[in-house]
Amino acid sequence: MSDCDVAIIGAGAAGIAAARVLVARGFAVQVLEAGARVGGRAFTESTSLGAPFDHGASWLHDAVPNPLTPLAEAMGLTLHKQGRRTKEGLMIDGRRASDAERLDYLRAIEAAEAAFEASTADPDRDCASVLPEGPWRATVAHWLGNIINGAPLHEISVQDYVAIDLPGENWQVAEGLGALVARLAAGLPVRLNTPVLAVEWGGLPVVQTPEGALRARAVLVTVSTGVLAAGGLRFAPDLPDEVMAAIQGLPLGLLSKVALRLAPGALELPAFTRFECRAADTADAPMNFMLRPFGRDHAVGFIGGAQAWALAREGTAAAEAYFRTELARHLGAATVQAALLPGATATQWAEDPLFRGAYTHAIPGAAGARQVLRDAALAGGRLRFAGEACHPTHAATLGGAWASGAQAAEALVRQLRDPA
Ligand SMILES: Cc1cc2nc3c(=O)[nH]c(=O)nc-3n(C[C@H](O)[C@H](O)[C@H](O)COP(=O)(O)OP(=O)(O)OC[C@H]3O[C@@H](n4cnc5c(N)ncnc54)[C@H](O)[C@@H]3O)c2cc1C
Repeated sequence: MSDCDVAIIGAGAAGIAAARVLVARGFAVQVLEAGARVGGRAFTESTSLGAPFDHGASWLHDAVPNPLTPLAEAMGLTLHKQGRRTKEGLMIDGRRASDAERLDYLRAIEAAEAAFEASTADPDRDCASVLPEGPWRATVAHWLGNIINGAPLHEISVQDYVAIDLPGENWQVAEGLGALVARLAAGLPVRLNTPVLAVEWGGLPVVQTPEGALRARAVLVTVSTGVLAAGGLRFAPDLPDEVMAAIQGLPLGLLSKVALRLAPGALELPAFTRFECRAADTADAPMNFMLRPFGRDHAVGFIGGAQAWALAREGTAAAEAYFRTELARHLGAATVQAALLPGATATQWAEDPLFRGAYTHAIPGAAGARQVLRDAALAGGRLRFAGEACHPTHAATLGGAWASGAQAAEALVRQLRDPA
């Protein structure tokens, strides 16, 4: 006798999408979430900055085909539709870049992406090894590596980089992307504060929690590969070697956000003003900024890669100091001092044992890992994996996590209706 048809581990986007599919098809579902809230790496709160602030996902990448866009529209949420990158806010040595310099930078990014696309032959290599030389090399490496992927290009598989294709526009949600995901979980059978300690999958799957065992006809695991690699869930028997290798091939990089509030009347800049610095050299790790999103008094800095991991270890005061120094590269120290209220909110994805980073990249040589994890159908198809790490083209994104959860749920529907 099972206690439910499907136990879903994790109430992030993938777990919620899967639960919606399964509940709609009449299956008895239990979503077991270790944390005190739903949404996982999509998390909006309005307390620290007085208005919605997304600690995790904030852009609907590739917005038009993104499965979450119509759901946001159906709820009547306010969307800020942002076109392709223009690099309007590019600064060089404390001055605004000229149009010609901005174009040069954009061309250097395109040249890098063209070089990646031309370098996908076996054996898989790292992105840095094929990055073109030139005056923008350090800036392009920082942008495409640390900021976009949360990891340096030399740690990223070029084949996976090319497979993860996010064309189109990036839109933001005024009410918060995390708030959208939380609303999509309304009414689902989610048990919060219920960490899964172990999954026993030798026979009919059993999920062990501090409150006891839950027997299920099938189990869907949606926790991050960072959690899985760190042993945050025990599997009995152990996962097969190829599945463990796939998990280890998909580590999480880190993107951190540091947010401060502007003093009343300070910095009368247009909403969504962006600032980005040309990197002086490969040791330089400029913070990127977005000021006044939705016209709010927010100043948000983005930092990824090694600098983000270091600041996460040092704490919020160090993150605030870094933010102030970095913003001074654009506005000058005196303006920054006058414009920003004291105190910062710094995101905490690195330290949190329920996440252990921001989102995945494949390490060089592990370009096939996403497919291995997505296709793993253990216990005769009764134990599956889903989440951003599993999506072939939109990995690392919220839309990819959502689609992955929905696809895994469809596979479980087939399995449970027609067990082989
Ligand atoms: C700073 C940052 C910025 C980002 N920006 C964007 C963006 O702008 N656009 C975009 O599309 N994407 C962005 N992302 C990525 C996006 O947030 C993720 O890809 C997506 O939310 C992942 O969803 P998921 O369901 O795969 O995993 P998760 O959201 O990690 O969900 C897994 C859930 O499992 C739970 N869990 C962990 N261990 C256990 C356990 N033992 N038992 C039970 N539950 C457990 C966790 O608490 C979590 O709720 C960003 C992420 C971060 C961190």
